[in-house]
Amino acid sequence: MQGRSVEELEAIVRRRICAVCTERTVDGRCGLEGSDCPLFRLFPAVARAILSTHSDDITAYVEAIRHQVCPLCREQAPDGSCALRDQVRCALDAYLMLVVDAIEEATGKTFDRSVLTPPGGQAFGRLEAQL
Ligand code: SF4
Ligand code: SF4
Repeated sequence: MQGRSVEELEAIVRRRICAVCTERTVDGRCGLEGSDCPLFRLFPAVARAILSTHSDDITAYVEAIRHQVCPLCREQAPDGSCALRDQVRCALDAYLMLVVDAIEEATGKTFDRSVLTPPGGQAFGRLEAQL
């Protein structure tokens, strides 16, 4: 992650994800109100999870985001469940593969995607259909 600021990383993630997000309106704006997108509402925590993970195994980054970001989110229930995640309505979860792509761009690494096992199944399947 050397050489990338949090602001640069957010710009990369925004470019990749907002461009394909189903919440994006025809005129290119986000259809959600202000801070309703968990990915960018929590972006400092997302960046922190990425910056604190040092591995050539992309699953380590996926785990870091799931474990370091979701517990900070107002949407996560005390039992760890999340209705938005279950409904594939959280951009962080639904577009996690694109966050992975942003990590690649930020670090210059090429990760082995064959090791990615979709924990939720549905969200990753939706992403793979878009890639
Ligand atoms: S919901 Fe989030 S990812 Fe989707 S367009 Fe809005 S800001 Fe971008
Ligand atoms: S999956 Fe749920 S708890 Fe995690 S960031 Fe998204 S909305 Fe928040």
